[in-house]
Amino acid sequence: MNGIASAYQSLKDVFGFEGFRGRQEDVLTRVLAGDSTLAVMPTGAGKSLTYQLPAVMLAGTCVVISPLIALMHDQLRSARANGIRAATLTSADADWRETQDAFRAGELDLLYVAPERASQPAFRDFLSAAPLCLFAIDEAHCVSEWGHDFRPDYRMLRGLMDAFPQVPRLALTATADRQTRADVMAQLRIPEDGLVLAGFDRPNIHYAIRHRDNPVRQLTNLMAGESGPGIVYAQTRRKVEDLAEKLAAATGRPVRPYHAGLDPATRAANQAAFVASEDMVIVATVAFGMGIDKPDVRFVAHVGVPKSIEAYYQETGRAGRDGDPSQAVMFWGAGDFATARQRLAEVEEPRRNAERARLDALAGLVETAECRRAVLLRHFGEEPPGHCGNCDNCLEPAGVTDATELARKLLSA
Ligand code: ADP
Ligand code: MG
Repeated sequence: MNGIASAYQSLKDVFGFEGFRGRQEDVLTRVLAGDSTLAVMPTGAGKSLTYQLPAVMLAGTCVVISPLIALMHDQLRSARANGIRAATLTSADADWRETQDAFRAGELDLLYVAPERASQPAFRDFLSAAPLCLFAIDEAHCVSEWGHDFRPDYRMLRGLMDAFPQVPRLALTATADRQTRADVMAQLRIPEDGLVLAGFDRPNIHYAIRHRDNPVRQLTNLMAGESGPGIVYAQTRRKVEDLAEKLAAATGRPVRPYHAGLDPATRAANQAAFVASEDMVIVATVAFGMGIDKPDVRFVAHVGVPKSIEAYYQETGRAGRDGDPSQAVMFWGAGDFATARQRLAEVEEPRRNAERARLDALAGLVETAECRRAVLLRHFGEEPPGHCGNCDNCLEPAGVTDATELARKLLSA
């Protein structure tokens, strides 16, 4: 019988890891027993392992639905490096015939596909040719209209689930509030007791949210105190280019831009250089980050406000995956929210309402005098300790800053 004991052995043999992290073991226990599950675990918690390990241990192929081709190819590389028999079926692959033959011959542990392919009837026919052990739905919040990144193709997956009711499902996401979770579970037919909700707290990340006066100077100061790799998120391609240039000049550090307007070769080169570097700063739009496995990012800075608390958590979550002290700093201005609200005027109902509510929740986090971590964790349904001791509001309470400021003014008068 397969069980958690043999999972430990496979963990060592296949991945070379000594133990499970967080709630991986709880997820695996369910999956290995054939129970459908929704795993909500923070970025960097190791969600991939919770389907890759069963894929190796169980008879039949695990079909992974994943939203980005680049993400799939990264996963493919790392799975193969561990000796897992994995393949992708995407528009970027030339080896379709080999992949299909391998699947039919039962020689694949993992098969990665995009949701638009997975939801097609022809794909269901193809899948019925060989045994399946699991459907893993990565970034599962995309299934829900309540989620912060709804994708219609994900909604269509229901047809696939209905065609293979006997195959267990493992839905994975880092960010889903109560409503999104309920919706994902209903759509993917995951029983109510199938939720594994891991801690959202990232205790090694220091959170700070500051007024923006001169972003180049503020970022230069941040970089002066932090020599490791960092990500700076800016709102537009122009701002990315501009900031990258000015920061490079001001700090002498390697700084590179990343946005969708760069040609693919430059983009790939900048990403690869960043992943390999120990001191590079990448200035990017939100196009950057998903699926990038760089454990030693020492800071994530936002110039301007992200779209939501979920987006903020996901983006800042790219800092400190190795567990070492790291910083998340947002530099915001009052005009940021006004601009974001104006943009919403073009969005149609009911989406507009949901997005406005998200923006309001983010404004609550930005403007609070309370512990940032407490507000963040409560947003995800966790009951936090009142005072984390590792955010700006805990370490520099408003009263104290004001008093210092006052003293400074008096002294310099
Ligand atoms: P997520 O998808 O939850 O953001 P990943 O699956 O990409 O996280 O895993 C993040 C990192 O953690 C990877 O480098 C992975 O190899 C590592 N990892 C996962 N599980 C373990 C474990 N049990 N022990 C050590 N490292 C692990
Ligand atoms: Mg992942």
